[in-house]
Amino acid sequence: MRERVYRTEAVILRRNDFAEADRLLLLATPAGKRRVVAKGIRKTTSRIAGHVELFTHATLLLAIGRNLDIITQSDVIDPYSRLRSDIARLSCAYYAAELYDKFTQDGDESRPLFQLLVDAFHALDQSENPDLVLRSYELSLLQIVGYRPHLHQCAVCGDQLTEDADQFSPQLGGVLCPRDRHADRRSLALGGPAFRLLRYLQSQPLSAVNVLHLSAGVRGDVESILRAYLYHLLERDLKSVAFLQDVMRGE
Ligand SMILES: [Zn+2]
Repeated sequence: MRERVYRTEAVILRRNDFAEADRLLLLATPAGKRRVVAKGIRKTTSRIAGHVELFTHATLLLAIGRNLDIITQSDVIDPYSRLRSDIARLSCAYYAAELYDKFTQDGDESRPLFQLLVDAFHALDQSENPDLVLRSYELSLLQIVGYRPHLHQCAVCGDQLTEDADQFSPQLGGVLCPRDRHADRRSLALGGPAFRLLRYLQSQPLSAVNVLHLSAGVRGDVESILRAYLYHLLERDLKSVAFLQDVMRGE
């Protein structure tokens, strides 16, 4: 029987021990999420062990298996070592990986989403503003998966929003104009600086967060708004949120 192999770029999102010495890996790839197995990886003799660490960006060679495909070779593109050795950055990476996981189905092909994840991990590894990297990542991800929040036109009437808009409705998917500010009883108060930051992050590339110097207050406000919106879409908080909050409080 001829062995069939293929090569793919991937980021390792999750690892679980499996059988005696194997690991099951959840990968993000340009062709979508994939569940694969790394055989014998927990043995000291494993040749690929150091090349499939959590959150590593790598080029993998995979053999098509009966149930799960098997990693036969791994070339690390970026190990994101700073990210993996710093608990605050690491908790951000767990969150970014979980968000990607929750908004994608196995096999959903998306090159833009994969590229966004790679860019986000790179920024979480390097940036001095990892929390703002997450906010920018959340907004870009929402845009790609079709839930871009309305920040320029009222979520109810579609009128152009001005700076006097001060309510965000997770339910209605965006900011409300003064006329519609009571359209959702559960809408959240949105201050001017948070509104400006949301708009800025939605319109700028990830790298733009590096030039920002902002108070903890406005960062927290934007985080709460996006968390409420994501909570509404996913109907729950992500598992990594509590961990992330604990770590950030400790910092
Ligand atoms: Zn309106």
